[in-house]
Amino acid sequence: MLSVNVIVVGAGVGGLSAAIRLAAKGVSVRVLERLPRAGGKLNLLEDAGYRFDTGPSLVTLPWVFEDLFAAAGEKLSDWLELIRLEPVCRYFYADGTGFDASADMPTMMENLEAFSIGAGEDFNAFFGHAARAWRGSRKAFLESSISSPLDFIRDGIPWTDLTALLPIPTLHGLAKRYFKDPRLQQFIGRYATYTGSSPYRAPGTLSTVLYSEYAYGAWYVRGGLYSIAQALEKLARKLGVEFYFDTTVQKILLEDTTPFILPDRKTCAVEAVQLEDGQILVCDAIVCNADAAHLYEHLLEKNLDPRKQKLEPSISGFVMLLGVQGKTTGLEHHNIFFSSDYQKEFQQIFSELQPASEPTIYVCISSKSDTTQAPPDCENWFILVNAPPTGKMDWQSEASGYAARILELLAKRGFDIRERIQVQYIVTPTDLENTYLTHRGGIYGSSSNTVSSAFLRPQNRSQTVQGLYLATGSAHPGGGLPLVMLSGKLAANALLEDFKVNEAQS
Ligand SMILES: Cc1cc2nc3c(=O)[nH]c(=O)nc-3n(C[C@H](O)[C@H](O)[C@H](O)COP(=O)(O)OP(=O)(O)OC[C@H]3O[C@@H](n4cnc5c(N)ncnc54)[C@H](O)[C@@H]3O)c2cc1C
Repeated sequence: MLSVNVIVVGAGVGGLSAAIRLAAKGVSVRVLERLPRAGGKLNLLEDAGYRFDTGPSLVTLPWVFEDLFAAAGEKLSDWLELIRLEPVCRYFYADGTGFDASADMPTMMENLEAFSIGAGEDFNAFFGHAARAWRGSRKAFLESSISSPLDFIRDGIPWTDLTALLPIPTLHGLAKRYFKDPRLQQFIGRYATYTGSSPYRAPGTLSTVLYSEYAYGAWYVRGGLYSIAQALEKLARKLGVEFYFDTTVQKILLEDTTPFILPDRKTCAVEAVQLEDGQILVCDAIVCNADAAHLYEHLLEKNLDPRKQKLEPSISGFVMLLGVQGKTTGLEHHNIFFSSDYQKEFQQIFSELQPASEPTIYVCISSKSDTTQAPPDCENWFILVNAPPTGKMDWQSEASGYAARILELLAKRGFDIRERIQVQYIVTPTDLENTYLTHRGGIYGSSSNTVSSAFLRPQNRSQTVQGLYLATGSAHPGGGLPLVMLSGKLAANALLEDFKVNEAQS
């Protein structure tokens, strides 16, 4: 073992990914997690034979998962069985129409053409634009730290790909350029929510999110997505990582150093963590998987990242977990029931900080693909509705009324399950905030609602504290499982570089 002693604060996917990459290089790693198990928002609830993934329900960019296992000398398929879903999602519109989205391009074009004349070609053209934006941004955005738009130019990316990255117009504006049918503008706009943002404010560069889903497919993990957390913990343990659950870090202790001696003019360096019970654990470096807002507001003694003040929290979520008796025809594994007024929905969420009166409803029934997820002849419904960051709503008094409203809206769309519900749990934005200490219940850290959002996210190597690294969806490159895994990779690589671990090995 090399003599670098690292503490990872948090056993979410970002923390686990960083721990695996560090331990694979021989670094000594301890993971401290305040909850009783690993996974963070990638969590599980089991009741009466039903299994519910309470957070993520969709896996994208499977090569990021493969890359993580490969870094530890393992094959992903030896640990997890990924199942490709087709169709990707069934879409229902308020006017009673709908279509199945497919990651097979000829099928997608055929389905769209049958749905709206000319839409197949429109999608093909939009996808071409999205592919250019993806090529232009992949290296600079996903594989390195960025702090300015100039970072996109440094890799010698062709001009045609760079032009697809122009952030203006908004994602909705871009959709309008390519699609005449407002229903398809709504479909494209939905991809802003994958980064916790509004399609009417987020930049058109988010076409890359759609590209990643249709180029690499939509995936499920047999046994449920919580299997990912279990596999990552097991792999980390195999590499020698030590886990301490029910262990809350209260403070990160810093030693003051003379200005200008440390690289990048940092004036303090990581020294230890202090636990809730007062215990002090000394370390050489810290990888923080906790939300960046929690880090800067609570774990560090002073606010050392003024940039975060400018960031707007991402969208939160209102979740219903329902054990439903009987099988439902007409639904797929993933289903979206669009609202009739998408603009109003985002206006209510981001400007009025109110839940949408008529929200778009996402329904995931993983038991459609995996019978282990529900008792025989039953279904596990995961319902997710976009919700505002916490601050204005009193969810404790409003949650059951809002849940009833969602079930009523589904009944109006022809799916009345109210008499068939055997098990019901509700997770509100306040629950997300309190359980995972995530800033204002945000699912993805900060939103991408402005052109500068991507450049303002905290970087994976702290700009102010020597020996502090961020591996979290609230840092670069953002939220969602694959991006969080990449955050773990960037944080681990920065640490290995600073401590010259790779050089020590060669
Ligand atoms: C409802 C919902 C649906 C989602 N759907 C999808 C989806 O379909 N696909 C997708 O890819 N992503 C989805 N996401 C997003 C995805 O879950 C997150 O981006 C990702 O799991 C975040 O991982 P993380 O490691 O950054 O943070 P977290 O999962 O929040 O982990 C941080 C960990 O740090 C711990 N911690 C915090 N402070 C301390 C402390 N002081 N001491 C010790 N431990 C601490 C927390 O307890 C937590 O376990 C969804 C999220 C939610 C909530």
